Amino acid sequence: MKLTEKLTNAFNEQIKAEMWSANLYSSMAIYFQSMGLAGCANWMKKQAEEELEHANKLIDYGVTRGGAIKISAIDAVPCKWEEPKAVFEHVYSHECHVSELIDNLMDIAIAENDKATQEFLRWFVNEQVEEEENAQAILDKFNVFGQHGLYCVDHELGKR
Ligand code: MG
Repeated sequence: MKLTEKLTNAFNEQIKAEMWSANLYSSMAIYFQSMGLAGCANWMKKQAEEELEHANKLIDYGVTRGGAIKISAIDAVPCKWEEPKAVFEHVYSHECHVSELIDNLMDIAIAENDKATQEFLRWFVNEQVEEEENAQAILDKFNVFGQHGLYCVDHELGKR
């Protein structure tokens, strides 16, 4: 059974969202690089790579299932933040938003009665729990140590 048109369109939207996320994290990496925060920049670059992997996972599955998979234009991403902590607040809120997108995609797979796609999307559902948790853990460090914690956070994120 091929991917339905509805699911194909939803996959194409999600591929676009994952690529937009990759660009967002690359933009955040540039912000940190220009501030000399190499550890935070390293974390963002790894995050950007992961987002491209997410996009490729969706592409591979969509093509395997005979969907008309397309890459569309990716909108511009933000490039300015008030302070380092605000960047990680943005990461957290963005990942919560992506979790909603994945949940919506799952809802469509359920509505289309496509069991294989529901099974495939379970990985993304679990991945989002981890994404939110990772962002929250970094924010917790900022909250405990304040701006003085920036050095510790930068050092730790350099190890990712
Ligand atoms: Mg993702």
